[in-house]
Amino acid sequence: MSNRFFKFQTQVEQANERCIQGEISPEERDNIVRGMSLVDETWGDIWMLSPKGEWFRKAYGSKQWVSGYPPALVDMTSVDSLSRMDIHQVACTIGDCRQCGLHVERNRAVPGEGPTPADVMMIGEGPGANEDKQARPFVGASGRLLEELLGNIGYKRADVFITNVVKCRPPKNRDPKPDELQACKDYLERQIELIDPKVIVTLGRFSMHRYFPGAAITKIHGQAKQIGKRMVIPMFHPAAALRNPKWRAMIIDDFNNIPALVEQAHTAQ
Ligand code: SF4
Repeated sequence: MSNRFFKFQTQVEQANERCIQGEISPEERDNIVRGMSLVDETWGDIWMLSPKGEWFRKAYGSKQWVSGYPPALVDMTSVDSLSRMDIHQVACTIGDCRQCGLHVERNRAVPGEGPTPADVMMIGEGPGANEDKQARPFVGASGRLLEELLGNIGYKRADVFITNVVKCRPPKNRDPKPDELQACKDYLERQIELIDPKVIVTLGRFSMHRYFPGAAITKIHGQAKQIGKRMVIPMFHPAAALRNPKWRAMIIDDFNNIPALVEQAHTAQ
């Protein structure tokens, strides 16, 4: 598979080079590149490379193009520990991980997606059925609500990094077990280090308990706390907010705090 990705990348780079040399116009270059895409034979995802060299993925079963990086192009030869991996290497390692029992029934691991670095990082609980099919966090109804909540405060989904405390789907969407949370913990730690968010939003109980052990979400939601060099703000999980209209109103209010927290963090620098 990797050869196909390298070849594809070379073709796009050649079109870009011809444009730089003045052989074709930027419009011609964009038309060439726009017409090119590559299907991942294993998963059915479609990959595209922009003239600027940015990769985008449309997951099988999804209509959305999101930025991503093909695992086939990630060089894993130079890294020997998680603490030295970049964000793509972490994602690749998660994709092949068998460190806990959740790998047995997963379809695809879900490392997370979004920019690196990012001002805001959202940490949910674990992938559900749709996420497990698409290898993307927060798709389906919860994802749509999350996008709506972000839209309300002037953010796009692509502005924030979104992930979960466990990267593989717990069977029948059960709660992750302590040994699974423990096994997956270092991936999240490394992602936080690399993404270096100003604000971490915990979505649901399990990510909240990482920072606020034993706390009840109904008591502390929306209350930001400085933890180390980041602000952490616990919120209801969008899935819970979908079930309960009262919580939906609360999560909308809580989201409204995010832009001010980001601004504060920038001012304090
Ligand atoms: S949940 Fe985490 S630790 Fe367990 S198999 Fe998946 S990636 Fe590995």
